[in-house]
Amino acid sequence: MALMTGEQYIESIRKMKMQVYMFGKKVENPVDDPILRPALNSVRMTYDLAQKPEYQELMTVISPETGERINRFTHIHRSTEDLRNKVKMQRLLGQQTAACFQRCVGMDAFNAVYSTTYEIDQKYGTSYHENFKKFMLRVQSGDLTVDGAMTDPKGDRSKAPHQQEDPDLFLRVVERRPDGIVVRGAKMHQTGILNSHEVIVMPTISMGPEDKDYAVSFAVPVDTQGIYMIIGRQSCDTRKREGSELDVGNSEFGGVEALTVFDNVFVPNDRIFLNGETEFAGMMVERFAGYHRQSYGGCKVGVGDVLIGAAALAADYNGCAKASHIKDKLIEMTHLNETLYCCGIACSAEGHPTASGNYMIDLLLANVCKQNVTRFPYEIVRLAEDIAGGLMVTAPSEADFRDPKLGPVIDKYLKAAPGVTTENRLRVLRLIENLCLGTAAVGYRTESMHGAGSPQAQRIMIARQGNLAMKKELAKKLAHIKEN
Ligand code: SF4
Ligand code: FE
Repeated sequence: MALMTGEQYIESIRKMKMQVYMFGKKVENPVDDPILRPALNSVRMTYDLAQKPEYQELMTVISPETGERINRFTHIHRSTEDLRNKVKMQRLLGQQTAACFQRCVGMDAFNAVYSTTYEIDQKYGTSYHENFKKFMLRVQSGDLTVDGAMTDPKGDRSKAPHQQEDPDLFLRVVERRPDGIVVRGAKMHQTGILNSHEVIVMPTISMGPEDKDYAVSFAVPVDTQGIYMIIGRQSCDTRKREGSELDVGNSEFGGVEALTVFDNVFVPNDRIFLNGETEFAGMMVERFAGYHRQSYGGCKVGVGDVLIGAAALAADYNGCAKASHIKDKLIEMTHLNETLYCCGIACSAEGHPTASGNYMIDLLLANVCKQNVTRFPYEIVRLAEDIAGGLMVTAPSEADFRDPKLGPVIDKYLKAAPGVTTENRLRVLRLIENLCLGTAAVGYRTESMHGAGSPQAQRIMIARQGNLAMKKELAKKLAHIKEN
């Protein structure tokens, strides 16, 4: 079975025995929890769309490894076309869910670990690449969802992993055994981990020789003994428990992040992809971050499409769609959104093969892409709120709207453009609220800032890749400057 249906995916997650905590309690049935289910539905969409003939080309590929049709989320990119299709697929999913659909972190980890393990083996004669390929085949043939776990808690930011007062603030090897290793630590902000079958752990920063125990990468099933997750709160999350679909804004889809603890987790030898080769930690980080910064030129653009559409609808419903300043704001939102898409496509089109044969994006352009993502969605949100009007945050609840006495009053005073129902007006405003400052704002707004690395991380890469020396030479040549 190389492609699971959405239903099969849900049932496969249901069978897993994950340790999930929320609001101080263990969640016995995360799959059916009203707060968590919308995030699972978003990942499900990566399976549902892969079943549809019209999306087959974007959502699936024939695996060069197995010869079977597989989901693109489990694919190793083999061309710049693959890289572009990845971005297009992410835009499509953003449009369909208006949320973080989570599965990209695994895809990006897949491609980063694939090429890095190849290069480690070349240098050291290790068998990490073979280990990874074995794991990859399992994921491809089972159509598994994989989480990519990179961000450590990091403690005192001025100190290296081995200098931390608490040695667990970066995930590390605490025991080496003949059959494998035991690891301890935590990974922060784990997108979709409880909706994943497997997790690929990677280091979070470049490391020196003294950080040997911290330079570790491996994959384990998410319900491995010792792994537990503490769900991150999202703004307005408990609205999902109230039973009002209207007040949630986007009741079907969402995203989820969890603080994930690895409490003495055993990793067998054949699932280890890096173990002490400190100089390769930076390569793995840089490649994963590069791919994930490319990803944002797809997913955030798709969600942006929904927000632009919602703002335009709100303008229609308010009766002000023809106002020139509204039209101009919608143009500005579109311009910003498409600029992000240009960056996502450009860094893909300029991709190149790595030593292992898979394709890497252009790192400079991918970092520029993500740097723009730290800004433009904020401006798009600002313009959406401008167009939506204050009612977006002052509208009464659905319970009041359905109340026999209050409902007609709300209906009378919230009427706007002719032929537009108050209910539809409320629905689109709640969707905008959800995207700008509700549960989806985690994925669209703040994640745009910090996901795939905070803005300064991209500026460091831009400084490294920007080739100032070459640019100075250009200037010197034209100005006929001769230096001794
Ligand atoms: Fe995918 Fe975007 Fe979510 Fe990252 S933030 S997992 S790229 S949808
Ligand atoms: Fe992300």
